[in-house]
Amino acid sequence: KIAKQTMPNYGGLENYQLVSKLGDGAFSKVYEAIKLSTNEKVAIKIVRKLELNNQQKASVLKEAQIMRTLDHPSIIKLLDFIETKEHYFLILELCEGGEIFHQIVRLTYFSEDLSRHCIRQVAEGIKYLHEEKGVIHRDIKPENLLFVPIPFKERITPLPPNEFDEPKEDEGQFIEGIGGGGIGQVKIADFGLSKVVWDQQTMTPCGTVGYTAPEIVKDERYSKSVDMWALGCVLYTLLCGFPPFYDESIKILTEKVSKGQYTFLSPWWDTISNEAKDLIENLLHVDPEKRYTILEFLDHPWMKNKAMSDIDKD
Ligand code: ADP
Ligand code: MG
Repeated sequence: KIAKQTMPNYGGLENYQLVSKLGDGAFSKVYEAIKLSTNEKVAIKIVRKLELNNQQKASVLKEAQIMRTLDHPSIIKLLDFIETKEHYFLILELCEGGEIFHQIVRLTYFSEDLSRHCIRQVAEGIKYLHEEKGVIHRDIKPENLLFVPIPFKERITPLPPNEFDEPKEDEGQFIEGIGGGGIGQVKIADFGLSKVVWDQQTMTPCGTVGYTAPEIVKDERYSKSVDMWALGCVLYTLLCGFPPFYDESIKILTEKVSKGQYTFLSPWWDTISNEAKDLIENLLHVDPEKRYTILEFLDHPWMKNKAMSDIDKD
C-alpha cells in the first residue's frame, strides 16, 4: 500500500497502520489509522515527549485521564492510551467528517436549521460535561468540533429534486437543509485544556468537603461559564460565517472581547431570526453571572424551534 511507504513508523504503535494525517498542532500530530487486530478505523493523537516540560507532560496525562471518564455520543471517545519513552499516543474514536470549521469555510455559513442541528449536539455534550461530570472543556471552538457525515444516500434535500442540478456523489457535495447538510453527529474533541472542577467521587467542588471556600464554589460556576461564552461565539459564527470578535491587532481584539463589543453586522444578520440573536445575547454577556447556563441554553425558544418553524422571520 502507498500509505505504508509514506507514513512514519512509531515504536509502540505496531498494532496500528497509519493511513493519513488529519491534523497538525504545536505539540501533536493526529493521524487516521487502522487497528490491525480488528480492522477498526481510529484517530491517533501523537505527542512527542521530548519537546514537553514536566507541566506539559502532566497536562497530556490529565487530558487522557479526563477523557477516559467520559462516555457520551457528543464527545470523542478515548479508546486507548499508550505511553512509550518518546511518545504519548491517544487512540481516539475517528470522526470522518473532520472539523465543523472546514464546513463553515465550505458553506460560507449555516442555515438556522443546520446551526441548530449542530449546536444542540455540542450543547448536549457540554450539558453532560457540566452537569454530570463537573468537567469544563475550556477550548470550545469550530476547530475542536468534529462530525460524522451522514451517508450520502440518507441526506434529505429541502428542495424537490431538480434534474439539472442533481448532486453527484463523487463530488462529495454537501446539501444544506433539514437533516444536517451532510453533518450527522457532532462531537467535541481536544480535552487538552479541560479541567475537573468536581470531585468525581463525592460530586462536590474539588477540595476538602465542608472546608471549601465560597469563592471556590463560585469559581466552579464561573469556570463553566467560559464554555458558555465560547458556545455563543460558535453559534454566532455558524449563523453568519465570521466570529463575533475579530481584529488584526491582538490588543484591539482583547479590548473588544473584554468589553463585549460585538454587533449583528448588516447585511449578514438582517435575515437571521430575533430568537437566534436573543440566544446569542444571553451567552455573550461580559458578566458571567448574567450568562446563560447550559440548561438555560437548551431551554431557549430558538433551541426548541422545529425545523422550518423559523421561516416567519421579521
Ligand atoms: P491540538 O491540541 O493540537 O489542537 P486536537 O485534539 O484538537 O489537538 O487535534 C488536532 C486536529 O486533529 C483537530 O482539530 C482535528 O482536525 C483532528 N482530529 C483530532 N481528533 C480527531 C478525531 N478523533 N477524528 C478526526 N480528526 C481528529
Ligand atoms: Mg485542537
